[in-house]
Amino acid sequence: MKFALITGGSRGIGKSICLKIAELGYHVIINYRSNDNEAEDTLNQVKNAGGSGELMKFDVSNPDEIRNSLNNWKEKNPDSIIEVLINNAGIRKDALIVWMKDEDWKDVLNTNLDSFYYITKHLIQDMIVNKYGRIVNVVSLSGIKGLPGQTNYSAAKGGVIAASKALAQEVAKKNVTVNCVAPGFIKTDMTKELEENELKRLIPMSRFGNAEEVADVVAFLASSKASYVTGEVISINGGLYT
Ligand code: NAP
Repeated sequence: MKFALITGGSRGIGKSICLKIAELGYHVIINYRSNDNEAEDTLNQVKNAGGSGELMKFDVSNPDEIRNSLNNWKEKNPDSIIEVLINNAGIRKDALIVWMKDEDWKDVLNTNLDSFYYITKHLIQDMIVNKYGRIVNVVSLSGIKGLPGQTNYSAAKGGVIAASKALAQEVAKKNVTVNCVAPGFIKTDMTKELEENELKRLIPMSRFGNAEEVADVVAFLASSKASYVTGEVISINGGLYT
């Protein structure tokens, strides 16, 4: 059996990614923080489509929870290797910098950037030894362009992009690839309070994207077909370039 870990797999983009990665033949390990019902729903959808998976509840912003969960899994599966990692879990807490609370800066950095470090560091050792791995990080247009009201989120996503480019060069010889996808506006809980009718005027394709449209690109980068792509950032934004 081949194993893939998807963080933030209970809802939105992560839910779609779980389904697409399961279609590639992976047993999907579905991480989430709190929404048990939605996580169960993802797992049921994976199984109904003929795939297999399991839930792994932990807070990606908490290094101890990450370590404990991944160590427990490894104890139960000593001979198995998680060869695909999708760092997707993310939050935003927007405010102009003068109004930003220190805890909102820290929460967003911990959840979007530090999680990349702790989870990737934990899993990459096996990938290097096995001489195969795929790491895909879900970043954002904000991390490329910077968006007002999102200094915390832009810093976190921009940090993941730079770290991915560095890591891609560290592990390229070991057949481990590290890439990012940068969505624009995608219809999920994260964007439900935004006015699509107003914002779509900014988008050449005149609409928000769907989670599946992101997941298809992630699945390609996570597949063996993307064998010569590394250190890249692919925008998925309907033409909304910087
Ligand atoms: P979403 O609908 O709000 O879903 C967020 C997912 O992340 C949920 O599964 C949630 O779990 C999980 N999560 C959040 N904090 C977590 C934590 N501390 N530990 C573990 N899991 C956590 O978000 P989305 O729109 O699908 O976003 C997915 C990724 O795409 C994020 O990295 C986001 O920054 C990025 N992105 C989204 C858009 C967009 O327009 N939607 C655009 C650019 C980039 P629970 O269900 O348990 O809360």
